[in-house]
Formats: sequence, structure tokens, C-alpha cells
Amino acid sequence: MTRENPGVAETVVRHAHVLDPGAGPDGVMDVRILGGMIAEVGDNLRGGRELDAGGLHLFPGFVDVHAHWRTPGREDEENIESGSASAAAGGFTGVVMMPNTDPIVDNPMIVGGLARRIERESRVRARISAALHVGLKGERLTEMHLLKEAGAFCVSDDGVGTASAGVLRNGMAYARTAGLPLILHCEDHTLATGVVHDGVAASLTGIPGSPASAEDVATATALILAAETGAKTHITHVSTALSAALVAFFKDRADVTADTTPHHLTLTDDLVSTLEGLYRVNPPLRPDADSDGVGAALRAGVLDFVATDHAPHASEEKELPLEEAAPGFLGHETAFSALYTALVLTGGLSLPRLVDAMSCAPGRWVGEGGSLAVGEPADLALVDLSERWKVDSEAMISRSSNSPYLGKTLTGRVVGTIVGGELVHNRTGAKFGTRG
Ligand SMILES: [Zn+2]
Ligand SMILES: [Zn+2]
Repeated sequence: MTRENPGVAETVVRHAHVLDPGAGPDGVMDVRILGGMIAEVGDNLRGGRELDAGGLHLFPGFVDVHAHWRTPGREDEENIESGSASAAAGGFTGVVMMPNTDPIVDNPMIVGGLARRIERESRVRARISAALHVGLKGERLTEMHLLKEAGAFCVSDDGVGTASAGVLRNGMAYARTAGLPLILHCEDHTLATGVVHDGVAASLTGIPGSPASAEDVATATALILAAETGAKTHITHVSTALSAALVAFFKDRADVTADTTPHHLTLTDDLVSTLEGLYRVNPPLRPDADSDGVGAALRAGVLDFVATDHAPHASEEKELPLEEAAPGFLGHETAFSALYTALVLTGGLSLPRLVDAMSCAPGRWVGEGGSLAVGEPADLALVDLSERWKVDSEAMISRSSNSPYLGKTLTGRVVGTIVGGELVHNRTGAKFGTRG
């Protein structure tokens, strides 16, 4: 894995439009990298290896706190090498891996093994989320102090949620004493009995729907308990307008942050009418009112950032009728382009807020990356905002191809990704010339 490497040669990325809404720069300038760190941002910088990035935008590398790299257990769908390559292709320099693997990441031995594999195989900075409860069964809590010692960065109940409010409350109190943040998947299974959102499209197609309350009730529970316990709590994949409003209410009453996904911001449950298993995801795609509400909350900063919920699946699990398909979409490689195309180019979101939501804010949450300030790790994304490209299953770097954007033409594409001063993704080579 690429790390700050004091031996690495000096690199200067020249002539890119540098945009970092956190640290301030917004204009054509150069970035000098030394020892894997940002050494200088300014005009007419020279040195060592030079990358000519004229015509490209340079952002702090994106940070994705929600990814399923299917390791251990389903390396046929994704492994650390392919997951991290897919992340790098999307401009992500930092990722948090979810624990609902096979086996579940619920004991220190598995955490330690995963940490060693990351060290060897990941192109980006990957962090481990361990399970909040043993086997993600919602009953017995994991040994969080030991998980942290073994290398866990946070704990999560992603994939299923926590049915018992009592278990969740104890888990929050324990996570707080262990110094681990929580990433929570809010879903009440007594309400989430369907496979799509319970709306017009579900009624017309006859596919069983789950009401929005399946998410909202669980979100309210999590927020109330976060306020009561003081645990550092992150609500992931917020997909309804009401859940976003609940987050807003608790923003200064609890140590709470929240994200939403590119697909909940750009797609709606109209896609249910295709009856294609590809479009099954959890939480489900919602109607316009929710998508708009979540978008407004992201704009306002109520939802702090975007996370992809990158969820690879083998084609035999997705090429099925909706009711039988596995839920989840690929996310890394299309996240920036989908959001830039659907939100920034239409005036729905400013480019600086998008970069803030993909880089600066999640970087602050993990405590590393998402900044071009001098002395920070040289984690960068180089993007061609003018490139139009068609999302194609053959060209996916992930081991799977279940992208909801397949066949769509998007604008803006990541061209190069740098982690700790090293180029870990370089799509065309010809896009920027190297000298020195
Ligand atoms: Zn989830
Ligand atoms: Zn997930």
C-alpha cells in the first residue's frame, strides 16, 4: 500500500485548476509534493518529476466511508486489489470497508488479517469497519477495545441494522468508551418487508414495497440514542426527506454526521418499472420528493457528505427479476461523474460543494485526507471536467459490473489519482505528460 515515503522523488503537478474548498485554492496553479506530502501550492513551481496537468482540475482525493470490497469471502465479486483499483479509478484515495463479509469482521483475528492484506494489496488508504455485534446478529456486542487494538477504525451494523434499541444503546456506550465511531444502517425490518420503495412504481408493477418509515423510524431511534449516549455516530445512506430532516434536528443535539449516496441523489424509483434486478438496492431508490429533499440537505450541509455504498455483486445475483436480485450497486468509478453530470451541470449543486462533500468533509470525518493544505498527505484526484464517456460493463475496473449507470453517458471523468505522492491510477498516460 502506498504510504508517505520519505524516499520518493519530488513531484510537481503543473498547470491544473486547483480547487480545495477547505484549504482555499481555486485557480490554475502548481502543487509540489515532497516525501508523499503537500509541500507547496503556488505559481511557477519546479522540481523533480513534473506532471503537466494543463486543462485538468485537481481536487483533494475523494474519501468514501462506505464500501463493500467483499473480502474476506467473496473475492470473486471484489477483492482488495480490485476494490482499491476501482476506488482509485473514481478518484478515491481513502475508503472504509464494511464488515458484512464472510466471515463477518467481528473478531480481532479477522481484523488483523484484513489489516495485513490491506497493507500488501490496497492502492488507496483503506480503513476497517468492524462489526458492532457478533455475526451482525444484533444480539451480543463485539469486543470493541480488542477490535480497535487489532486495527479497526470504527464499528458498523451495515447490511442489516440493529433491530433492538437496547442493543444499539449499549453498543453506542461501548463504542464511545472504546473510542470508535459508529456507522449505522438504519432499517426497521418489521416495516421493511418489501424489495422496493412502497410508492406508485411499486403499485403499478405489483412488486412488494417497503414504506419510507422503515428507514425513518430506525433513523429517529439511532439519533435519539446518539444524543443520549454522546457516541460519535454517522448515519449512512440517508435516502428520505424525513430522515434528512431528523438529522437536521439532531445536528447540534448529538455528535452526529450523515451521508447520502450518488444513486439516491441522481436516480428515482421510476426505474422499478423496468423490473430489472440491477435496480434493486437497500435503502431502495425513492421518488423525486425524497431525492430532491436529500439533495437539498446535502447542499445545506445537513447531510455532511457523499458515500457510495459500493456493493459489487456477481452477474448471476443481479441478472434476475427485482424480487430475487441481490441489493446493491457499484459506486466508486461513477460517483463523481454521476453527481457532476446530474447535479453540478444542471445548477443543483456547486462544484466546490461537491468537492467538499466528496473530499474535505469525509476527510475530516476519518481524520486524514481531503485537504491540499501544506503538510497534508499528497492524496489528489485529477479530473477532466469536459470528458464525456459512456459507462460500459467491459471497462469497469471492479470485478463486478452492476452499475446503475450502465449505458449512460456522463460528463467529467477522473484521469489520475495520487496517493501519498504516488500515481496509483493513470487512465490514459497521454492525458498528462511526464517530464524529468
Ligand atoms: Zn447499508
Ligand atoms: Zn452498505
